[in-house]
Amino acid sequence: MTRVYLTGAGPGDIELLTLKAHRVIKQADVIIYDRLANPEILEMAKDGCEFVYVGKEDGRHTLPQDEINEVIYQNALKHKVVVRLKGGDPFVFGRGGEEGAYLQERGVSFDIIPGITSAISVPAYAGIPVTHRGVAVSFRVVTGHESPNKEVSQIPWENFKTDDTIIFLMGLHNLSKIAAKLIEIGKPRDYPCAVISKGSTKDQSVVTGTLDNIVQKAKGVPTPALIIVGQVVKLRDQLKWFEQQ
Ligand code: SAH
Repeated sequence: MTRVYLTGAGPGDIELLTLKAHRVIKQADVIIYDRLANPEILEMAKDGCEFVYVGKEDGRHTLPQDEINEVIYQNALKHKVVVRLKGGDPFVFGRGGEEGAYLQERGVSFDIIPGITSAISVPAYAGIPVTHRGVAVSFRVVTGHESPNKEVSQIPWENFKTDDTIIFLMGLHNLSKIAAKLIEIGKPRDYPCAVISKGSTKDQSVVTGTLDNIVQKAKGVPTPALIIVGQVVKLRDQLKWFEQQ
């Protein structure tokens, strides 16, 4: 029986892979992987394992999603153990749901192997807890991919007014619009903000600032990067640990 494993690769540090992901990667006949999955993970595969790259560059797709779905399906017809390896968690802006549905419609069985999402772990590697007693009782994870100038937005910006921590994925190229929008809905100009690039890897970099100056400060920061907004950002002063190593 063929089985497809829709597998989270974690944010970058390969030690953040789950034991279950590690097991299926070692058993895989083929690994279909993304740009965000650390390529060092592929070295764990057995001899003869095939590798198929279906990566996307920020918004620019090397392969459209429906073709990726078909690549997974075709590989399921050829192989016993198919690992679809995706950065972070497959269900957090990972389109794992679409891939699962495509397989289900064609009678292919699959497992979901959750991964450590960048939304939480990348702030952690920057010494920023997404919640903190007395500082933040909630966090929100939002796509930053949609332009905040869009006429009809799917993002309920007004609801963010009272949010503590807000994390934007895929938002670096919209950073100025996101910061402006948050100020427009009433966040103070000096509200703490950070941009974390290549989190949990040796190339991690962190820029902290405020809604007012983050655009200036984060100029030239490379992707992948996420944006985190909230008083928790200040805790980095005390909690940064990764750069100290
Ligand atoms: N499924 C993934 C997210 C996919 S969307 C997950 O759960 O993590 C891709 C976005 O994730 C990027 O644009 C960036 O905002 C964020 N991201 C992923 N890995 C990252 C990393 N190592 N450092 C910073 N941001 C990262």
